[in-house]
Amino acid sequence: IKIKITNIDIPVAYASAFEGEIIRRGDMQVEFDGSRVDCAELVHTVEASEIEDHKITVVGPEVDEMELGSKNSIAYVVKVAGRSMQPDFEPVIERKFHNYINCIEGVYHTGQRDMQRIRISKDAFAAGFRIKHIGEVLYASVKNEFDAVVDKCEVVIYTDPAECTRIRHEVAIPTFNKRDDRLKNLTDESVDVYYSCILCQAFSPSHVCVVTPERLGLCGAVSWLDAKATNELDPNGPCQVITKERCIDERIGEYEDVNEAVRKLSQGALEDVSLYSIMEKPMTSCGCFECICGIEPFSNGVVIANREYAGMTPLGMTFPEMASMTGGGVQTPGFMGHGKHFIGSKKFMKAEGGIERIVWMPKELKEFVADRLNETAKELYGIENFTDMIGDETIATDPEELVGFLTEKGHPALSMEPMM
Ligand code: SF4
Ligand code: ZN
Repeated sequence: IKIKITNIDIPVAYASAFEGEIIRRGDMQVEFDGSRVDCAELVHTVEASEIEDHKITVVGPEVDEMELGSKNSIAYVVKVAGRSMQPDFEPVIERKFHNYINCIEGVYHTGQRDMQRIRISKDAFAAGFRIKHIGEVLYASVKNEFDAVVDKCEVVIYTDPAECTRIRHEVAIPTFNKRDDRLKNLTDESVDVYYSCILCQAFSPSHVCVVTPERLGLCGAVSWLDAKATNELDPNGPCQVITKERCIDERIGEYEDVNEAVRKLSQGALEDVSLYSIMEKPMTSCGCFECICGIEPFSNGVVIANREYAGMTPLGMTFPEMASMTGGGVQTPGFMGHGKHFIGSKKFMKAEGGIERIVWMPKELKEFVADRLNETAKELYGIENFTDMIGDETIATDPEELVGFLTEKGHPALSMEPMM
């Protein structure tokens, strides 16, 4: 017999009413920030004999031992076992952590994978809320919502910085890479359906992601396979099947089926979206984008910045400044939130000429996407080592200097049709 857990044993309230709650710096006891220190959130499928149901372990300091207002590492591994559990369901469960942790009164969560950010308020701390309670919430929520596949669940939360580094680099990132690789041989043309995702409507009520094999959700945590698994686990849940029978415009990737779905799922706020254009009917963004791409008029190309990048871009804007122009579930031609893996996709801004438009990226991001991006550039345009032509913050953050560099490299964007 499976028992629904209705009361979660924590010293603060737990309700979806707290989901949109924001905790300001001055009100926070401590924070955890995956964009600055090593963090991760992960579901791991194990044999039933390997875990103890409802066991919650904290490895490292508790909130009491952290300095007031400090930035810390956190990594939680939720081990699950069940006869019907499949590794394909792991990312689906993981993506729900955002909602689960946000429902805690006085606790705020954004992001996913190794980029999550959590704040615990002074009030929640004073009420007795501790790291171990995050484990209680994850345990109870996973058991509740995924009882069809999870029989046993154990949570290990690391706050020891060295352990967080180990979990992030040796366990989490290889797991994420393996998942992303499974998509390699799938194309948008080779599948019969796409999926919608509206998981982020709690924050961005009109936002809808359309997830295709070659365009993952902008959070980077929902691939087409993940959306498919989400739909299998919960046919009435956040991911719905979208057929792709009535193509309107192949160039920008516009389908009547997609438009109908988006209209319905955005409650009429959105009319039509394209899959492959940043200028014409672009997809909306919530706030969880891994990257933002924006047009750079001097070079006739686009600049991409990732969330971890703290510096200036040639647009004269930092990532947070670009984010303020991009989020909120409205269409903003010229700006687009997207996942890191979309950068190497053949469908990236296909309508505007594709990845050949990329003129600048932070060095770290460039290195992260180099293999895939170079492979795609070679295949589509016959360009070798395309990333060598792309600027970064060590080359230029000034648009004129950037154009100088691009000219020297013979970057293709300079001679392409104007974007505006
Ligand atoms: Fe779903 Fe998009 Fe939100 Fe990711 S960003 S959880 S794909 S709605
Ligand atoms: Zn979102």
